[in-house]
Amino acid sequence: MTRRPATLAIGMHGAAHCAMQPAMTAAETCLTIDLDALAANYATLRKEAAGAETAAVVKADGYGLGAAQVARRLHAEGCRSFFVARLSEGEALRRALGERDAVIRVLDGVLPGQEDRTIISDLTPVLSTPQHVETWRRTGRLMTLHVETGMNRIALSGEDLSALAAANAPVDLVMSHLGCAADPHDPRNGRQLERFQPLRALFPKARASLSASAGVYLGGGYRFDMVRPGISLYGGGPRDVPDSRFRAVAIMDAPILQIRDVAAGEAIGYGAMFAAKHAMRVAVVGAGYADGVLRTSHASGAGWIGGVRAPFLVVSMDMIVIDIGDCPDAQAGERVELLGPSAQLDDLAVAAGSVAHEILTRISPRAARTYKGEVA
Ligand SMILES: *Cc1c(COP(=O)(O)O)cnc(C)c1O
Repeated sequence: MTRRPATLAIGMHGAAHCAMQPAMTAAETCLTIDLDALAANYATLRKEAAGAETAAVVKADGYGLGAAQVARRLHAEGCRSFFVARLSEGEALRRALGERDAVIRVLDGVLPGQEDRTIISDLTPVLSTPQHVETWRRTGRLMTLHVETGMNRIALSGEDLSALAAANAPVDLVMSHLGCAADPHDPRNGRQLERFQPLRALFPKARASLSASAGVYLGGGYRFDMVRPGISLYGGGPRDVPDSRFRAVAIMDAPILQIRDVAAGEAIGYGAMFAAKHAMRVAVVGAGYADGVLRTSHASGAGWIGGVRAPFLVVSMDMIVIDIGDCPDAQAGERVELLGPSAQLDDLAVAAGSVAHEILTRISPRAARTYKGEVA
């Protein structure tokens, strides 16, 4: 049996919070977003990256946790640079931040015809194709350039950068992105760093940025002037495994709908997904893949009850069946932690054959959201 400290048990965190609105949420899957934990994670990253600015990546609605609330709280914690993916995300974030002073960069860049929207919302496009560069150049504004160093996704080439340097383009940030930083021993990290150095040196007056969450922990040489963490702000470990330096921000729990005894030889779920080899006690939990618990996590994922692990047996759309052999006191109505201090994000990601980023961004609107801590 795996037990985690009782102080981390759901009864003292998400469930308690959810239980404050019993009428509305008793039967629902709850997602509690702990903004104090977010602030603590931001402080942890900022301390590690001391000397560099710590920007915040809040694309995909703040990894599904609410870009407006996340960014407002981080702004109150001192964050002044934000990254989103889409233009529409940038527009929404600018509205959410109101008069607060903040640079919002749009990773999608800017396409012809989007200049006005970009400028009206005071957004800074991350220029990743010659077409972005041409489009933005006509506005005469400062440029953020995203250069290719080894990931081979959308980015400018070294030749593109040389041409811009020769033309004295007004560049204020040169950035690139690491593909394998979660593994500090991967030689591609060093190769990307070596490619990045001469490219950023083409613009001696511009600032430079290479690292997301994982890169922050590769050492000082990778941090440059700005780091751009996303997932570790939200509690994901920079190495894709649970990391006690980061607190859970997304706390998801759901009620036990029924407890039942299953006899040896019986099957559970669609297609007899799980076959009981021996008699067992199981609990049916009111959450499922429609809330964002990936179906693929059934084989090794788990819920947690009072700090005790209860392995998943079957994950269906609205119900998860868990083995409560180690939780003899579990009762119908009790809440099961599916994500949080015990049910750690990276563990669930590994169980689902995925990454923490996907787990968070797949949590569906059906999970009733509440915020814990000041939004600001
Ligand atoms: C998504 C993204 C990040 C943040 O990555 P995390 O792994 O979530 O820290 C940083 N930079 C760029 C360019 C990104 O696309």
